Amino acid sequence: MKTVIKNGTVVSDSDCLQADVLIEDGIISEVSSSIAAPDAELIDAKDKLLLPGAVDAHTHMDLDVGFTRACDDFFSGTVAAAAGGTTTIIDHMAFGPKGAYPWHQVKEYHSLADGNAVIDYSFHGVLQERADDRTFAEIREIAEKEGITSFKLYLTYDMMLHDKDVFAVLNEAKRNNILITVHCENDGIINYLRDRCGEEHKLSAAFHPKSRPPDAEAEAVNRMLYMAECAGEAPLYIVHLSSEAGVREVIAARKRGQKHFGVETCPQYLVLNDSLYDDPCEGLKAIMSPPLRKDSDRFCLWEALKNDILDTVATDHCPFTFKEQKQRGKDDFRLCPNGAPGVEERLPLLFSEGYMKKRLSLPQLVKYVSTNPARIFGLYPKKGVIRPGSDADIVIMDPGKSYTLTGETIHGNADYTCYEGIGIKGAIDMVLLRGEVIVRDNKFLGKKGNGRYLKRGISSLC
Ligand SMILES: [Zn+2]
Repeated sequence: MKTVIKNGTVVSDSDCLQADVLIEDGIISEVSSSIAAPDAELIDAKDKLLLPGAVDAHTHMDLDVGFTRACDDFFSGTVAAAAGGTTTIIDHMAFGPKGAYPWHQVKEYHSLADGNAVIDYSFHGVLQERADDRTFAEIREIAEKEGITSFKLYLTYDMMLHDKDVFAVLNEAKRNNILITVHCENDGIINYLRDRCGEEHKLSAAFHPKSRPPDAEAEAVNRMLYMAECAGEAPLYIVHLSSEAGVREVIAARKRGQKHFGVETCPQYLVLNDSLYDDPCEGLKAIMSPPLRKDSDRFCLWEALKNDILDTVATDHCPFTFKEQKQRGKDDFRLCPNGAPGVEERLPLLFSEGYMKKRLSLPQLVKYVSTNPARIFGLYPKKGVIRPGSDADIVIMDPGKSYTLTGETIHGNADYTCYEGIGIKGAIDMVLLRGEVIVRDNKFLGKKGNGRYLKRGISSLC
């Protein structure tokens, strides 16, 4: 099957080029100024932009948090992703049962995603509680057999790793070209402050950000960067950086000359601020970790993107329903499931708040939402770029349209969006996954189970 997209502007992480794109059997076969292909199905993209399908390297579909699960499974969550121009996700696994080793969750996640996902997908492995010989043997085996070349560890929560194990993991990762992704928050600070909130009956949503201050993030970012450096520059990826204090630690490491690390932020930390917690009821919608910060943090993150100090923008999509699941925290924020929806809003928000407001260039936008995540997680150039040989994952954007984000028109199972009422300039016309139109005019046209599992290669950070 052949398709030709004519008259559009093809955007890459380095430039914008007026060009036609020919697709054959799901693969891009030609990109050039004028393609004559009378036998191909024609899509006219005049006055439109062609972006490589977005890659979201941080989602939590069907996440099991013990007392409940995230309300999007791999079907509903990937439909939402597709509607937002994302054609690949790399999902972060939940912790397994106590004592579980890495293979346990790999098998569990195939059972959740296979046959359900509507876009292409991979997983980050998860490390929990300890790091011993069996852990390392499984990591090596999973990387080889499953193409899972990144593993996540946490510096907080019950199943966190302590520093000695973290350091052992980093050394092992360095030896085997495995990328370690890390949730950076200082566990001691957070637990102390959460206990104090309990003792002092300060349990409304407003105390959630106070119990997880920016310095708790900065300390953990700094510690991880130094530990990676100490392990001979073990490859490291810091997820969901949220604060100015955290950005300062990243800049310090870059100034020291440290190279083998990448840093992610998320739309919520760029677009929203902690005033959302002022309303004790509505505030539950934005209970996530790290929490939303001040406007000064937001501006600093935008500046860091503009100056190429950060590497990716992912979502940390982890939705729970407001009417039911989030209400668990109404009398005590500590009981509220942590996380919010966002997989659908990322590209439109970045396009509107980033590109249209002149905070980012178009190539930068593409770099942060597509090309860099593909490179860093071993999917490039199959994903993350529109060029011959790559999968024909393409988003056709109409910069002339505008609309308002609302919980009613988004596709996931969450009953709200944190971005309610925000005006979006630019709209997605069409989304192609491997040459097939899966979204047109905000309507999902794909099929359950059509997403393919992706075996990934070695990270560009190794
Ligand atoms: Zn996460």
